[in-house]
Amino acid sequence: VESRFVAMTPGSGRLFEQARSLFPSGITHDSRHLAPYPLAVGRASGPRKWDVDGNEYVDYIGGHGALLLGHADPDVTAAMMAQIPNGTHYGSSHPAEVAWGALIRELMPAAERVRFTNSGTEATLLALRLARAYTGKPRFLRFAGHFHGWHDAASVGHLSHFDSTSPIGVLPGIAQNVVVAPPNDAARVEELLATDDGIAAVIVEPTGQTFGRVPIAPEFLRTLRELTTRYGVLLMFDEVITGFRVSPGGAQVAFGVDPDLTSLAKVVAGGMPGAAITGRKDILDFLDFEVTAARGGEKIRHQGTFNANPVAAAAGVAALTKIRDTGACERASATAAEIRDGLNAVFAAEGVPWAAYGTSSAFHLFLNGRNLPIDPLDFEPAAYSPDELRSNDPGVVNALRLAMMCEGVDLAGWPGGIVSATHGPAEVTATVAAAR
Ligand code: PMP
Repeated sequence: VESRFVAMTPGSGRLFEQARSLFPSGITHDSRHLAPYPLAVGRASGPRKWDVDGNEYVDYIGGHGALLLGHADPDVTAAMMAQIPNGTHYGSSHPAEVAWGALIRELMPAAERVRFTNSGTEATLLALRLARAYTGKPRFLRFAGHFHGWHDAASVGHLSHFDSTSPIGVLPGIAQNVVVAPPNDAARVEELLATDDGIAAVIVEPTGQTFGRVPIAPEFLRTLRELTTRYGVLLMFDEVITGFRVSPGGAQVAFGVDPDLTSLAKVVAGGMPGAAITGRKDILDFLDFEVTAARGGEKIRHQGTFNANPVAAAAGVAALTKIRDTGACERASATAAEIRDGLNAVFAAEGVPWAAYGTSSAFHLFLNGRNLPIDPLDFEPAAYSPDELRSNDPGVVNALRLAMMCEGVDLAGWPGGIVSATHGPAEVTATVAAAR
């Protein structure tokens, strides 16, 4: 399969030779790593993209989840094109940021206040600092494997260091203040909250480790809400990938659980760099000059050259308006369900011990059925441990991704895919045929 891929993608190969002398591993984001080299993309539209050699693909990377409306959505593009000639940066307040913040609050009622940042990583960094300031407590509790960005504290217990030791380059003092719990284990959370009064917040990816690969039961979210309230701990939803995607109001509205703090990125800025934290007014008051001065307390300092950038704000307003008004979340989720069913029908018919599963507009592929018994037509991820769900052989994943690219489908590296509202019957058919 590798020789087929190489024969088909000479332009990507040549670009990679240059990139390798510029970037570590020749890439600019860890999840873009692929052997023998990643695809170099030249343009994209709706659910499709074309590499620099002109090969066409059904895209399942979806801008790492940012593109619920697909590539180059006409309304989002028009909003950006209208803004750019009027300036790309004012370093001042402007109308689009107010419209953007108001739309977020309209869609997410728990967002009493909003603060814009530039990335999901910055959002969780700021939210955790706010939680420490508000509670006066040093630690936060997180779930093993959940992704909250790459900053120091978030790195402890993501892919490794589940024992709160420090990843290379991270200060031990930071790692010691991260408490890592297994997902879906309410008894363990209660035990930790009952015995450690230094925990400021519990942070969770509300659909489970990266968008449902290791699913979280909605019931567990309700239990977290009860436990955190009972123990005086803040509940923080990391909705960087689920926000405006699981529903227009994110997972919190879909599951009916109001967190105290929320981190948002990806869809919120309509495919541009942009992010936010939202939550209770009395917590975000630690960013407020007047409130903190009136009570004689210290303010959390927060800057950011590109916070609420006007082009990102224009894209965000256009995207959130369209998501509110057009049923985009439901369409993407329905298409993802068709893809999961279509893939499982192929696996069952071909006798391949693989399964597709997932929630909302995601699909995940479980490729470890040679070692664990599975029925593709009746695959229940809750029957497997997080380690088992994460146990795909990286060599098989790489080969599958290359093979699917040779058939015109670019899977996300989980492996699996993020589906947009522009994916439709043609993409479902092409994907199932490629898998067969
Ligand atoms: N949290 C979650 C749940 C995410 O999915 C991501 C990005 N994949 C992040 C945080 C980090 O966001 P960013 O890449 O914008 O820093």
